[in-house]
Amino acid sequence: MPVSGLPPYDEGNIFARILRGEIPSRKVHEDEYALAFHDIAPQAPVHVLVIPKGRYVSAADFTAQAGPEEMAGFWRAVGQVARQLGLEGQGYRILTNMGADAGQEVPHFHVHIFGGKPLGPMLV
Ligand code: IMP
Repeated sequence: MPVSGLPPYDEGNIFARILRGEIPSRKVHEDEYALAFHDIAPQAPVHVLVIPKGRYVSAADFTAQAGPEEMAGFWRAVGQVARQLGLEGQGYRILTNMGADAGQEVPHFHVHIFGGKPLGPMLV
């Protein structure tokens, strides 16, 4: 169950379907805890999404419910993907949208990795 105030996990969401292999993705990395793939509408030269394999609606849900091993495995994968994409030297931005006011479109927790150019200040 998601934390209170969040909708229940929707098995039909697009990232659940990607995880099940029902729709294709441009995969960057996969391990026991996480899957990373290119965003379909990139907003930077590098724009990759990292999602946990577990069923979590959002960051709030993930941090409240995931076990320590799962949480560490997920964040380790985020760092590994950034390294693999050659972003470590120049830097990069990680971001997660949480809920309606943040404009979260897909109700499966995901972290955006943006990089490949100077990103400028955060706009909000
Ligand atoms: P959110 O607004 O943080 O939920 O971001 C959802 C992201 O998922 C957006 O940047 C979309 O472009 C991206 N997205 C939606 N559908 C797909 C897909 O099928 N493959 C890859 N990225 C997707």
